[in-house]
Amino acid sequence: MRKNVSSAGVSRRQCFGLPFALFCLLTACTPPAPRPLADAAIRVERSPNFDARRPNLVVLHHTSDGSLDEALSVLTDPRRRVSAHYLVGRDGEIVRLVDEKERAWHAGVSWWGGNTDINSSSIGIELDNDGFEPFPGAQIDALLLLLTDLTRRYDIPGANVVGHADVAPDRKVDPSVRFPWRRLAEHGFGLWCDDPPPAPEALDLTLALAALGYSPLTPEASRQAFLRHYVGGRTLSDAEERALAWCLFQKTGDRGQGTGNRGQRTEDRGQRTVKSRGALRRQILTVSCPPAGAGVYAITPRLPERIGKKRLA
Ligand SMILES: [Zn+2]
Repeated sequence: MRKNVSSAGVSRRQCFGLPFALFCLLTACTPPAPRPLADAAIRVERSPNFDARRPNLVVLHHTSDGSLDEALSVLTDPRRRVSAHYLVGRDGEIVRLVDEKERAWHAGVSWWGGNTDINSSSIGIELDNDGFEPFPGAQIDALLLLLTDLTRRYDIPGANVVGHADVAPDRKVDPSVRFPWRRLAEHGFGLWCDDPPPAPEALDLTLALAALGYSPLTPEASRQAFLRHYVGGRTLSDAEERALAWCLFQKTGDRGQGTGNRGQRTEDRGQRTVKSRGALRRQILTVSCPPAGAGVYAITPRLPERIGKKRLA
């Protein structure tokens, strides 16, 4: 029953006088938590036009464990609250841990292309690896088979195969710098560029990395993740970094955009993501490849901030 309650959820009679006003301002007068809508308040008209939601991103991890059994004990322990859809052993054995229709807990706090709920839109694959050793050929062969199957069944763009460190650059470094991203790219998974030509002078690195999917909210961590992924963590000059980012960006095309589904399959969360990245892509193309006769141009440095605020609003 409602009775004389302010929009802030506090009785007006409690908030009279300066001391109370100050008290309310500092403590109680915060916006109330949103209440879930009752089913009865929603009219239902069923449409036959739907299918199951589907993943549009694959996130790769290394387990940091010494054996498959060790990894399995962690990933199936309810107290650890971590999982993945698949675990690939050093010998190429593939273990399914969570049904693809379910939301595995593998990415945690993360960002890719504006999407901050990566667990809801991705398939998580753990590779049995201690984080320092090389990845055996049999394991990568099995991973390639699994990626081929997943990307075909769900129509996932090849550019949307990324690492945990790419989507959580301020917290994670997996898969390690020994992971063979180049070999994956040769099979159409992820991106790669050798000997990239110079980037346009106006190209802003943070903006270009955001267009690839990296978080513009943690620019330095994103830059470090980008360098680990594409040059094994080596130091590059500013010009080399921008050239690499520009080369990769040009390879994304329209199919590597966002983590929401495309076209008529665009979903609620993905729709906003795709719009943001589409706008970003158009701006980068505009400033980097100005039409003939265009005058002075520059990238707007506030664009990533606007995207961040829009997404977080
Ligand atoms: Zn991970």
